[in-house]
Order: sequence, then C-alpha cells, then structure tokens
Amino acid sequence: MFGRSAKRVYLDFAATTPLVSEARKAWEDASAALGNPSSIHSSGIEAHERLERARAELARELSCKSGEVYFTSGATESNNLAILGAARAKEMKGAGLSATHWVTSSIEHASVLNCFHELARRGARVSFVPPEPSGRVSATAVAAALLPETVLVSVGWANNEIGVVQPLSQIARAIRAYEKERGARITFHTDAGQAPLYKTPSVHTLGVDALSLGAHKLYGPHGVGALYLSAKMTADKRILPLFLGGGQEEGLRPGTEDVPGVAGFAASFALIARERDTEAVRVKALRDELAKRIRASIPDSVINGDLSSALPHMVNLSLPEMSGEYAALALDAAGIEVSTKSACHEGEEKGSHVISALEAAEKKAAVPWRRAASALRFSLGRTTTMRDIERAAEALAAVAAQMARMDVRKF
Ligand code: PLP
Repeated sequence: MFGRSAKRVYLDFAATTPLVSEARKAWEDASAALGNPSSIHSSGIEAHERLERARAELARELSCKSGEVYFTSGATESNNLAILGAARAKEMKGAGLSATHWVTSSIEHASVLNCFHELARRGARVSFVPPEPSGRVSATAVAAALLPETVLVSVGWANNEIGVVQPLSQIARAIRAYEKERGARITFHTDAGQAPLYKTPSVHTLGVDALSLGAHKLYGPHGVGALYLSAKMTADKRILPLFLGGGQEEGLRPGTEDVPGVAGFAASFALIARERDTEAVRVKALRDELAKRIRASIPDSVINGDLSSALPHMVNLSLPEMSGEYAALALDAAGIEVSTKSACHEGEEKGSHVISALEAAEKKAAVPWRRAASALRFSLGRTTTMRDIERAAEALAAVAAQMARMDVRKF
C-alpha cells in the first residue's frame, strides 16, 4: 500500500540500540583472547583482569565501588535477581512470604511487574502504585503504600513506553523517613532502563540500594547487563542468588562471565557518559520538532505522559480512533520503524497497560476513543537526523490520511 523505501528510518531506539564501534572493538579484542576468568593460569588471569577493568569502569560511571557491580545477562535478569532474590532471602530466613509486603508502580516493565505477580502468587502482599495522569509516580503515593512489613520498593527510573522520568531521590527520601519513623528496613530498587543515556546514573544521588542495567538499550551488546547492589545489601544478605552454581560474581550470579560482553558494555557506557549532555540537547530538539509536526498534521492526537518530564529521545502519541498496531505496520511499509508499546508486548491484542493506567488516573477521560490501543512510541537515538524526522512526520500524515480514506479509523 505505501511502497517500500530504500533507506529505512529507525525510530525504535527504546526497543534496542545499535552497537557502537567502541563497544564492538572492545568486544572483539576480548573475544580474541583465550581464558576463563576463574582459571588460575596466565590466560585466566588476563580474562579476569579484563572482567575487573570493565567492572571498575561501570562502577566509576555509577559512582559506586567495583565490588557493588554484579554482571548478569540483561535488565530482565537483573530485575529478577533484585526482586525475587530479596524474596528468596526472606524465605531462607524461614518465615515464608505471607507476612511480607512489596511495592511497585502499575506502569513498570513486564520484567518487574511479573516478579511482583510471582510474589503475590507465593502469598506476599503486593501494592501497585498508580501514576498521576502525567505518568509520574509520586513520592507521596509511594509513601502512602508503605507498611512496617514492606521489604522492597521498585520504581523504574524512566518509563519505557512514555519516557517519563520518576522522582527517585524524592521517593528514596520518603522511604528513608518511613524507615526511621517506623523502624522498618526497606530495599529501594530501580530498573534504570534507558535513563543513563541522558541522566547521570549516580546511585547515591538517586538514593537507591539496587539498580538494574541492560547493555543493548545503552548501545552495548545484547545478552549482558548489570545489577548495582549496595555493599550494605550484600553484607546483610538481603538478596540471595536465583541460580545455583559456582562462586562467580561473589556467588550472587554463578556461571562463567561473558568477558567480551562486559568489555563491550563498559565501552558503550563510557561513550554514552561522554556524549550525555550534548546528545540530550540534540535529540530533544529533534523529538520536539517531531511532536510539533505530528500535532500539526493530526491535531486530535494526544501526547501520552508529560513530555517536559520525559527522557529527551522519546514521544508517545495516541492517534484519534486509529489502531496503533495498524499505523505501525503501515509506517513500516513506508520505511519508518516505530513501536506501539514495549517491544516485549508487541503483538498483544490489548492496549498498553501504561497508557491505560494514565487514563484511569484522569478524573475525566481526555478523549472519547481508546488511547491505550492507538498509541505509537517514537524513540530517537545517536544516528537520528532532521531528515529522519521530516520523513517520519510526512509518512505518519500520509498513513493517517490513507486510514481515514480507507475508513479503518474505527477499530
Ligand atoms: N526494563 C526496561 C525498562 C526495558 O525497557 C526492558 C526492555 O524492553 C527491559 C527491562 C528488559 O530488557 P532485556 O529484555 O534486555 O532483558
């Protein structure tokens, strides 16, 4: 219908990012070397040194100690280790989970939400804090959910569908105040998602005890991630391993480490830190231009979440009475690649749980049509140009006009 165009415009950097050349080189160098980092011979020692160099580099960017960084296979595993590892620590103390309470927001990524569903299945009490209509999860709402039995609070740093950045340091202060007042002991975890691309990931400024990272969202290799865990968490044995095996990663995440993967991750993390401030300004200008053009050609479109508090590379819009999935496929046919929601949920019939939560938070619905099923997420990156933005805006206007003519707007 829309004809395939030669150069494709990728505006789905929130789903995954291309590997940068610095990370590819680090990966290739480490791959060329032989040696298991746990071996005691020279090749093993060399691999171990590479591993520890990568750990130290990541720790420097996170403003924490090297020993507080644990390598994993990605953000999903890091989230599972932080949340279900805390549950295992509770269970190993013999009490089971029925007397425990856990808090998250209702707009988290599936790799967090499903851990909380699992906790509930095992008998724990779980609170899902709703966002404000802006997409913000307020410190007041989190504080109101806390109980003396609360074990862990998990709130993502920036939402992966709408990009809204959460007030983590305010939430941390509310948790610490509650701990002091009620003698509670609460772990504060965040899924950092793509926030480190544009926000300084200093764990102490954020006030978190645990922070999950995934390299492929940060211009690093696929299949590698990290979990920051404060020394206090491990000293108190507040998180236990989910995998059983050897003693790698201080026994918290057994299995031979992916040395090329972590070397690539450290290189991409250093690069995004160097480019952070300039890229934030550059992509924000492009993103704002895209939003302006779409709003001009489709005036009834609605921006989901407060754009001024979103990460600068992301805009999520609902199109009046149009299926987001249909629009994304039509855009793809025109050479423009975007998402309807999180790539992990793509293809599901139901609309986005994040947009549904925003709608539920409104006293009166902003629009009479189904915003959650008509959402499109545009996410920009290092290689995005103004020409890409022009082409995406033109293609979306053409898709909307075509859909109106074909009368596929009502879905
Ligand atoms: N957390 C967030 C916020 C994400 O956006 C994603 C990926 O979509 C994940 C976790 C899971 O990452 P991975 O599939 O790489 O483990």
